[in-house]
Amino acid sequence: MLADSFGRIATDLRISLTDRCNLRCSYCMPAEGLDWLPGPLLLTDDEVIRLARIGVERLGITEIRFTGGEPLLRRGLPTIIARTARLRPRPEISLTTNAIGLARLAEPLHAAGLDRINVSLDTLQPAVFKTLSKRDRLADVLAGLAAATAAGIAPVKVNSVLMRGINDGEAASLLRYCLAHGYQLRFIEQMPLDAQHGWRRENMVTADEILAALSPEFSLTPDEPAERGAAPAEIFLVDGGPARVGVIGSVTRPFCGACDRVRLTADGQVRNCLFAREESDLRGPMRSGATDGELAALWLRAVAAKLPGHGIDDPGFLQPARPMSAIGG
Ligand code: SAM
Ligand code: SF4
Repeated sequence: MLADSFGRIATDLRISLTDRCNLRCSYCMPAEGLDWLPGPLLLTDDEVIRLARIGVERLGITEIRFTGGEPLLRRGLPTIIARTARLRPRPEISLTTNAIGLARLAEPLHAAGLDRINVSLDTLQPAVFKTLSKRDRLADVLAGLAAATAAGIAPVKVNSVLMRGINDGEAASLLRYCLAHGYQLRFIEQMPLDAQHGWRRENMVTADEILAALSPEFSLTPDEPAERGAAPAEIFLVDGGPARVGVIGSVTRPFCGACDRVRLTADGQVRNCLFAREESDLRGPMRSGATDGELAALWLRAVAAKLPGHGIDDPGFLQPARPMSAIGG
């Protein structure tokens, strides 16, 4: 098992399939984009599947989420998902995506074995979408969401990050939209993971503010059980349920004590935390002929060193060198 020294067990593996993206969300990357990882450094499909297999067969991974950068840009994604679905015991397979291209891919991905999906959608206004992401693609995202439902992927979750002065007035309209379409909305507090290092605590829209913005229009009651477990979102019943909304207070209501995640970057580095300042290379040893057992041992060591929390509130907090898009959100 992937245990750390604080007794947490990592069972949820997030694999970044690329650091590239076709949007430029300002909380993630600068308008001009970033220097993408050179192709030879990226794990091949076979390498991704080998590490996923080691995670599932030897290390107790039960859930695999593909992310990025934008994972739909990875050629052969349906094949990667199909191969993941053949691992035993079969892991739950999910995807975090901006949904551009999903209108075309939802069906093949579902047929390949994709169980669940999280789509990022921060605004319903085309002009705000363009300001926020530097691309005029809102219609593609909404079409992708609709296609996910039509393909039978369930649940379809929506992730929204609110930014002060940009889309913070849209909390209620985003919830209304998601309720009308049967999507489960979760708001995520903005974290200091942008490549530009522009995050400021005072600009962050907090979980409390999000709940306050929703409360004039919706009655929100904490969903039982109140125990969050490893799930980061605090879930609320909307107007008595069954509809729900989640709020992920990554910064103001951290859930590090219950974290069950471990990450693999697109270039084959294990990260035991989004905010880790160190990574453990699996690609190099793998390409030098390491056995499955040796790779598993390296992975175990990487997770054992996990720190108790992200420390954003510590005076000495340092943002990780890699931005969210390169780590895999
Ligand atoms: N491109 C895909 C997408 O946007 O869904 C997958 C990768 S993205 C890095 C994963 C998630 O991280 C998205 O929901 C995005 O909104 C979120 N994210 C990115 N930067 C963030 C930040 N600084 N704080 C909070 N969430 C962030
Ligand atoms: Fe791309 Fe996702 Fe980052 Fe937006 S949040 S720039 S869609 S990787």
